[in-house]
Amino acid sequence: MSRAILWFRNDQRLDDNPALLAAVAAHNEVLPVFVLDPRQHGLGPLGLDRSGPFRRKFLREGLLDLDRQLRAKGSALHVRVGDPAQVLAHLQEVWGVDAVHAQQLFAWEERLQEKKVATVAELHLHAPNTLLLPGDLPFELEKLPHVFTAFRQRVEPNVPVREPREAPSHIPSPSEWKGRMLGDDELPGDSITVDARAVLDFRGGRAAGWARLRHYLWETRSLSRYKETRNGLLGADYSSKLSPWLASGAIGAREVWHEVKHYEAENGANESTYWLGFELLWRDFFQFISAKHGRELFLAGGLSRKHPKGVWDIDRFKAWCAGRTGQPFIDANMRELAATGWMSNRGRQNVASYLVHDLGLQWRMGAWWFERMLVDYDPCSNWGNWQYVAGVGNDPREGRRFDPVRQMGMYDPEGAFVGLWSSN
Ligand SMILES: Cc1cc2nc3c(=O)[nH]c(=O)nc-3n(C[C@H](O)[C@H](O)[C@H](O)COP(=O)(O)OP(=O)(O)OC[C@H]3O[C@@H](n4cnc5c(N)ncnc54)[C@H](O)[C@@H]3O)c2cc1C
Repeated sequence: MSRAILWFRNDQRLDDNPALLAAVAAHNEVLPVFVLDPRQHGLGPLGLDRSGPFRRKFLREGLLDLDRQLRAKGSALHVRVGDPAQVLAHLQEVWGVDAVHAQQLFAWEERLQEKKVATVAELHLHAPNTLLLPGDLPFELEKLPHVFTAFRQRVEPNVPVREPREAPSHIPSPSEWKGRMLGDDELPGDSITVDARAVLDFRGGRAAGWARLRHYLWETRSLSRYKETRNGLLGADYSSKLSPWLASGAIGAREVWHEVKHYEAENGANESTYWLGFELLWRDFFQFISAKHGRELFLAGGLSRKHPKGVWDIDRFKAWCAGRTGQPFIDANMRELAATGWMSNRGRQNVASYLVHDLGLQWRMGAWWFERMLVDYDPCSNWGNWQYVAGVGNDPREGRRFDPVRQMGMYDPEGAFVGLWSSN
């Protein structure tokens, strides 16, 4: 008789979950556990909790959904708060566990968690939630090209996106194994009223993630227009809005890719259907950059190890956060983020550039604010994109400034977006 803990992290799904398949294949009984590390949610450098209300709500919903998925297979999710190494070591002892299986993550803190868990348990790490698997790349991660285009050109023609694998029909857990959810006081969050102007009512979990995927592809065929609409600012369907579910792992990147292929087979491929995969490759790129550069992704000098520019001016920063800089396009985007936990990609590029190049603030202040506010916060994508805009990361053209007046003229010529967000 052998038992394993299945340590869920950012992989709130049972389908296409390599850690789950490996645990079920190698052990008689599997104990699904999620550990909420309070260091990643509590007080951060801005003097605020690192996760804000939108992210917390989304996480709670995602865990409830994961528990539902597990119960449908005869198991249950056990949620604990604490240092993962301590929690897993304790459960291992109480339940007589032989090994821990988990998805590999590439961000620095997550890697430190893995290292520590490996000192107390036999830890097996499995494929990450990327399109391409690190072992399939034509280079070692240390040799990852520094610029996205060079990366894409090397992988696109050569590396296959593996087919998603189905969940096992049953997950055997001990009969005494009881689920446990987060208590109300364990990740307290302000109650949220959904702002009527929000692009979407984002709900965590696989069911909602797949509903969104079906909507964007099959129900509205918005995917076939993606390339023309992806710089939009208004409404639900200018882009896929899949990022929150990809960040929590409620849906897998390889699942999205193959659903797009299926869609192309039924409806025809075009530049737009190609472009969604292109953007998912950007996501992979930042995951692998994180694997290569570790802590540097979070340091002020960035990957370029430059002397950091920018000042720490709290008043200017607060005005930016609240959408009170006086620049209408920037303010509208920042108000949308504060009220809904969402901002378009076009908006993110502009407000980040504004913080760095116009307000002259330290770029990390903005990255910390995004970490707190974004419903789709992902450490690799967030810090990688911030570095890119701040000119300390992977942008071959450094110091790229967006002119917000020009940008508004191009992407909000009638002022509809700015009008919508003219007040908080
Ligand atoms: C300063 C800044 C911070 C960002 N922080 C995050 C973050 O914390 N989490 C996050 O998921 N994305 C982040 N992004 C990337 C991008 O803005 C979002 O992924 C995208 O807006 C999500 O909307 P969507 O799902 O509708 O994207 P779509 O346009 O429909 O794209 C499909 C998917 O491709 C991926 N993708 C698209 N653009 C990028 C990109 N530039 N970098 C990495 N992946 C990308 C996402 O997974 C996205 O869901 C950030 C961008 C900037 C400029």
